Amino acid sequence: MFNYTSIEQYHTDLLNGHTTCVEAVQFYLGTIRKEKILNAFLQVYEEESLQRAAELDEARSKQPSIGKLHGVVVALKDVLSHKDHPLTAASKILGDFTAVYNATAVERLIAEEAIIIGRTNCDEFAMGSSNENSAFGNVLNALDHSKVPGGSSGGSAVAVQADCCMVSLGSDTGGSVRQPADFCGVIGIKPTYGRISRYGLIAYASSFDQIGIFAKAISDTALVLEVISGKDDFDSTVSTLPVPAYSDNLQEKVKPLRIAYFREALESPSLDPEINEGMRRLITGLQKDGNQVQAIDFEYLDYVVPTYYILTTAEASSNLSRYDGIKFGYRVDKKLDLTNFYCQTRSEGFGWEVKKRIMLGSFVLSSGYYDAYFTKAQQVRKLLVEKTNLIFSEFDAIILPNAPTTAFPLGEKTDDPIAMYLADIFTVFCNLVGLPGISLPLFWHRNGLPYGVQVMTNRFSELYLLQLSNQWMQLYREERI
Ligand code: GLN
Repeated sequence: MFNYTSIEQYHTDLLNGHTTCVEAVQFYLGTIRKEKILNAFLQVYEEESLQRAAELDEARSKQPSIGKLHGVVVALKDVLSHKDHPLTAASKILGDFTAVYNATAVERLIAEEAIIIGRTNCDEFAMGSSNENSAFGNVLNALDHSKVPGGSSGGSAVAVQADCCMVSLGSDTGGSVRQPADFCGVIGIKPTYGRISRYGLIAYASSFDQIGIFAKAISDTALVLEVISGKDDFDSTVSTLPVPAYSDNLQEKVKPLRIAYFREALESPSLDPEINEGMRRLITGLQKDGNQVQAIDFEYLDYVVPTYYILTTAEASSNLSRYDGIKFGYRVDKKLDLTNFYCQTRSEGFGWEVKKRIMLGSFVLSSGYYDAYFTKAQQVRKLLVEKTNLIFSEFDAIILPNAPTTAFPLGEKTDDPIAMYLADIFTVFCNLVGLPGISLPLFWHRNGLPYGVQVMTNRFSELYLLQLSNQWMQLYREERI
């Protein structure tokens, strides 16, 4: 029986002849089949991944030096361009569109010999917190089929949670990697804005979007991050800073830290009392181990969600204007004048949540309201950046819950957009200010569901974030109750 704990262990097994890439792919294809009901995958590349695995096994038998991600079985969120494969952003509007090039992140995975096993379900255009906005149906949380997996990268989170792949990629504009990771009990990292190229990532809100990684081991997270990060001529917002060898330096112990948490977050009436207790246990543990943990005032907490939704819908209304039925994707099959053609195509092609956001975004950018909403929100974003710089002049890390509750029941918030948006209260800050953030699955709730802590460090200090994550996963991960 195929057994997987980390890429490192898998590579040792491959090189010792204890397993093969074909065996690995067969194992994951088997789980995908068994877990079909979860609806995590929009498409599985069965033949293609088996063939690629066989090629890799053959190549390894001739030449034992292998790529960093040799034979690693990866699933991709359906917002990442994968050449010659369908790409829909879980929307009807892209129709039968097929990607014409590889996203830089995907190109780099393939160059290091990863195997792409399939394309995962998500909220339409990555807009959502529960994966209930996909044009192709909900995704179920593998631990409890009556609960959401979180969103928008729900399929990618569940694919890792349910052992349908080793690691997966998602995207995180306001929490779409960290929150589903939290709901599914896996690791989810969103690096610093500009760490990973966005070339080939379908744009939702370009000044927020980042590709993120789901995994079960910190060492896997580190290795994948190191492969896909770094300079890229196709994305002018990507940083040219060198990419440290995250995976080689993980074991280094981080010295005692100065850690801040937001008083308002732990006092928030929306926070589940048991999640609060978990956070308090972690704080006590960290203090006992010599770290300084301190509550700080974060007077902006009530403003982060409105600021996030004003700015992201504004950017989305512009980014999504390209889906007009003319150049690619879905189009109405009627003879109409141009305006009605656009209108009809977009009305039929987009789902309700996406349409709502396009309208909201157009409204906040409209001449009469621009200053009242868009400019104001930009000013708040600036204040948040200043506050963040101040925090990092005194602290090494910030800890927060990922979400106010554990995974909620399917349908619970679908009729209440405000409640749904407020569920993002703890994750959007990180994107507003461009920090790296990770969700670590440390705790179990008495309701049988997992939850974690969200840790943020200063910009481009992913190495440090991963080192402390490695340590914390060993020290503070609690047993399932
Ligand atoms: N839930 C947030 C939203 O709906 C975050 C989405 C994301 O990070 N892609 O916008």
